[in-house]
Amino acid sequence: MAKKSFDIQINTAWCKGCEVCVAICPKKVLEMSDKPAPSGYFTAVVKRQADCIGCMECELHCPDLAIEVKSKKEEVKSDAKGG
Ligand code: SF4
Ligand code: SF4
Repeated sequence: MAKKSFDIQINTAWCKGCEVCVAICPKKVLEMSDKPAPSGYFTAVVKRQADCIGCMECELHCPDLAIEVKSKKEEVKSDAKGG
């Protein structure tokens, strides 16, 4: 059975490196980068995307609205027959 997966996007132009998302993620999906982004901030990065449960806590608590969590469409090849 396919596991539900999520796509996490961090807008490094907006991230100010406050670490709120890293602290709040219950699955430790996010970590802080060890290299500064072009903005000069050490931003959050997605480290264990497969562990994300889509709780949206990171997106909801990011003070800079820099995170977007999207549910990935399951790539199931069906014939789309019936209905
Ligand atoms: S949606 Fe939840 S589990 Fe996924 S990265 Fe954000 S806080 Fe972590
Ligand atoms: S909560 Fe937002 S601004 Fe803070 S580190 Fe995470 S992505 Fe960056």
